[in-house]
Amino acid sequence: MNRERKKYGGRISKAVCDFVYPGSLYCIGCGALIDRSRHYSLCNSCLSKFHFASGRTCEKCGKILEEGYHKSICRDCTVHEKKFERGYSCMLYGLYEKKILRDFKYSGKSYYAPYLGELMYDRVAHLLENEIGADIVVPVPLHRKKQNKRGYNQAELLAREISKRSGIPMKKVLVRTKNTRPMSSLTGAERRENLTGVFAVRPRQSSEIANNRILLIDDIYTTGSTANACSETLKSAGASAVIVLCLAAGGNGGSEDYLKN
Ligand SMILES: [Zn+2]
Ligand SMILES: [Zn+2]
Repeated sequence: MNRERKKYGGRISKAVCDFVYPGSLYCIGCGALIDRSRHYSLCNSCLSKFHFASGRTCEKCGKILEEGYHKSICRDCTVHEKKFERGYSCMLYGLYEKKILRDFKYSGKSYYAPYLGELMYDRVAHLLENEIGADIVVPVPLHRKKQNKRGYNQAELLAREISKRSGIPMKKVLVRTKNTRPMSSLTGAERRENLTGVFAVRPRQSSEIANNRILLIDDIYTTGSTANACSETLKSAGASAVIVLCLAAGGNGGSEDYLKN
């Protein structure tokens, strides 16, 4: 009996804690107790560590531009053509942001979605009506096998939150037809090659795309290969414009070193 109690004690007390202190009372960055009114469920200390896209960003892809870089288009966009009209990112994909995004994506912490989705919505809320003018919100799809294994598609969870807040309907019109190699192990050129012919329009979904402006949602933007490949597919199906919104984006395009981290 005592042994049983000992064995299950830890698990039970965690369950009791989760019940008494629901997730929204913890900072999603460091786990500190916070009150419910905190923005994005982040404490002050964590908020101050985030590099938000509040300064200059690339006028094409939306990456944060480095200090001292004076052009309006990032190095990556000057070299590689983008198939979408415009991109927006909310924060830098830096060391601190990476931890939260990895927890959200790989550690089953799908309950981060409302907080991160709200953050994304706030980034573009004032642009939605005129500048973006999207008719539908579309998440970047995961391959079926990967989604089954993970239990969810993080981009879809974010897209759903943005749809809920903006009133723009979410449509899952894209499908990933090939289970590609993990992008984080590849260079920019390999990523572009890896994504050739990977995305397709779901059967009977073309009418949702034709002549519509699409707000394409993903969690991370690095070289833009994924956003580009999706945009190409959407444009082929008749989309009039594709605007990309990502939660976090890599540094100022020229270097691809950060892709390996
Ligand atoms: Zn914190
Ligand atoms: Zn750019």
